Amino acid sequence: MIKEVIAKALSDQLNAELYSAYLYLSMSADAERLGYKGASNWLYTQAKEEMAHGAHIYRYIIERQTSPVFSNITAPETSFKTIKDIFENVLKHEKKVTELINDIASLAMKENDHASYNFIMWFVKEQIEEVARTSEIVTRINMIGDNPDLLYSLNAELATRAFRHPFPEE
Ligand code: MG
Repeated sequence: MIKEVIAKALSDQLNAELYSAYLYLSMSADAERLGYKGASNWLYTQAKEEMAHGAHIYRYIIERQTSPVFSNITAPETSFKTIKDIFENVLKHEKKVTELINDIASLAMKENDHASYNFIMWFVKEQIEEVARTSEIVTRINMIGDNPDLLYSLNAELATRAFRHPFPEE
């Protein structure tokens, strides 16, 4: 069993990961609508990763012989107008998620829950990568500006992102 306060925080994070998946699916649909099939693929793959993150938290809560607390998943904002707008919002969202994860790490430390602290450290590391790779895309979009050839190549590059399950055993 884990303390109720930790179970609640992890359940909230399970919800947040599923919300992230929802947000990226809606952005993927927007990118598709704007004609960026490559960016749409990148966002769809990102959504699948978020679902895997959520499932991983679910598995941990169950493994600790506790029940997750389920709550509503908020509908995401839709209809982003540009590819720049989409990726700036991905970055903003990932920075927000980083804060949520850090708060769970602080809580686990405060509650002397070493197992939960160890569990959440995977996500702490993951967030470094999420923020770095999204920042890189935002920087490139800003450098590209309105150059259609460079936008075309970036889109082609984003098309190559393939889903790799972060926890293949799950
Ligand atoms: Mg995530």
